[in-house]
Amino acid sequence: MMTKGNINVSVENIFPLIKKFLYSDHEIFLRELISNATDAILKLKHLTSIGEAKVEYGNPKIEVKIDKEQKTLRIIDQGIGMTAEEVEKYINQVAFSGAEEFLEKYKDSAKDSGIIGHFGLGFYSAFMVAEKVEIITKSYKEGAAVRWICDGSPEFTLEETTDKTDRGTEIVLHIAEDSTEFLEESKIRELLSKYNKFMPVPIKFGTKTHTLPLPEDAAEDAVAETEEVDNIINNPTPAWTIAPSELTSEDYMKFYHELYPMQFEEPLFNIHLNVDYPFNLTGVLFFPKLSNNLNIDKDKIQLYQNQVFVTDEVKGIVPDFLMLLRGVIDSPDIPLNVSRSYLQADGAVKKISSYITKKVADKMSSLINENREDYEQKWNDIKIVIEYGIITEEKFAEKADKFTLYPTTDGKYFLWNELIEKIQPAHTDKDGNTVVLYATNADEQHSYIQAANDKGYDVLLLDSPVISHVIQKLETSKEKISFARVDADHINNLIKKDEPVISKLNETEKESLKKNVEEAVQDAKFTVQLEDLDSNDAPFTITQPEFMRRMKEMQATGGGGMFGMGGFPEMYNLVVNSNSELSSQILKTENPQEKETLIRYALDLAKLSQNLLKGKDLTDFIQRSYKQLEK
Ligand code: ADP
Repeated sequence: MMTKGNINVSVENIFPLIKKFLYSDHEIFLRELISNATDAILKLKHLTSIGEAKVEYGNPKIEVKIDKEQKTLRIIDQGIGMTAEEVEKYINQVAFSGAEEFLEKYKDSAKDSGIIGHFGLGFYSAFMVAEKVEIITKSYKEGAAVRWICDGSPEFTLEETTDKTDRGTEIVLHIAEDSTEFLEESKIRELLSKYNKFMPVPIKFGTKTHTLPLPEDAAEDAVAETEEVDNIINNPTPAWTIAPSELTSEDYMKFYHELYPMQFEEPLFNIHLNVDYPFNLTGVLFFPKLSNNLNIDKDKIQLYQNQVFVTDEVKGIVPDFLMLLRGVIDSPDIPLNVSRSYLQADGAVKKISSYITKKVADKMSSLINENREDYEQKWNDIKIVIEYGIITEEKFAEKADKFTLYPTTDGKYFLWNELIEKIQPAHTDKDGNTVVLYATNADEQHSYIQAANDKGYDVLLLDSPVISHVIQKLETSKEKISFARVDADHINNLIKKDEPVISKLNETEKESLKKNVEEAVQDAKFTVQLEDLDSNDAPFTITQPEFMRRMKEMQATGGGGMFGMGGFPEMYNLVVNSNSELSSQILKTENPQEKETLIRYALDLAKLSQNLLKGKDLTDFIQRSYKQLEK
């Protein structure tokens, strides 16, 4: 008996519509059909487990087959199948009304908003690539198999068939002229690996040759036997679906490489996510080594819905600072069929974001407590994520003191409280403020670090690109704390103590020294600043005031923008030690030429130690120095 009929549809030409609107993302048809096949198998599993279906469940799989000659692509499953009545109901009525409703609603907006790709149009997405679709299906229930055929018009035929004897559903897509790329093995393999790599049911695509091991006593010239085995393209039980207690760190590594085959470096550690209330979410996040590779565009966090790949555009779901991580998030609760802006406002998504933030903070706390030494070693690679988190997520910042490290230039690592306890006595100035000294480059700021160390101060080494923002935040959240880079001023001025100043020069001498230096320097970038320092301190030192430099850096790395771009000129102070031997010598020198030579030479030396002597100035300096040697 054969039924002919019209699919229950009010829009006459819905298939062209499907094709047109979904064109940009037509490849998702395969994901949709494989999801249906998976559902059909999982439903059968459930029914057999509760004794509802009295059939052997076995080891069902899904098979994808290309026939280039016939121009067909088949998706074959061993799931529950459908009876004729079910095809009528689910395919002709229910499924279609879903697709129709969707198109009606989004006809105008869908294409631009990008929602199409995230919307499961289900079975009917097959018509994006096929001019005719057949369903050959046999239910697990008693009864004959049926064949449904539809050529893209609202008309269909439905008849019993003897073509299929085993349980399950076979979808046959007669690929349209403009979609023949989907008859290419490489294309299908690419799609399967993109969308289905971790689906819960084995998916077969062709076969592969498996070489059998040689027996122990095999002759030397024996050739190993081979056999053809199913080529299963997916891993049905990826790490995130397994309880953490059953996974070793090797398992996580293996999964990482499965997820990112082109990624050769090992991740530093992983965070297993697992929550079932108030929303469902599982996943594994990895901390990659970031120190010398900020390539965050590829190998991003991937979002799955019940093991089906959805997207790797996770902005809005994962907090920004964690976009530097890798891994998988799987949640049936994330509304996937809506636009990005809607996602960001969605309550469930906000909760997910704050859950992940909290989980990462907790993991950091436990990592540092479990193995401090190991954590210290990894600090350099993870600090950027933590620091970025501190400046962008208040909830994260609140917990961060427990796991944020402050390394010193001599290789020790302190937590905030440890640091303050250690440095407070020495680093507190006459007004009761504790001044934290830091360097951003141990080599370039070496002489300044040395000068601070000589006075018994500790210097932190804070060299990440966002550190100026972190410092700014710390200064506002901690009381009586300020930060100064070691070269922001002379060390005596950075931490002012109530110490008597001894001046070798009188006021008139100082005035003329200052005048001499100013005349010789002749550079608007430098402000001459006379200081009564220790006679052993460097005669000339170049410093860069903290505020200006920090604002400039903050501007360069985003934010802090109360001044326009380029609003911060480069400004330096030239600190002249009036108690130094050289200062006396400058004053004593009568010949103006000689006086200027002295000053300029000292200035060059000061510039050298701040890495400011470059190009022609450096060449001239070196030539002059050789001449000096030859004299
Ligand atoms: P959805 O999967 O979102 O329900 P679809 O349009 O993809 O919508 O499918 C409609 C219905 O058709 C499914 O709910 C299911 O009952 C039935 N169906 C589709 N594909 C299969 C299949 N391979 N095996 C059994 N039933 C199927």
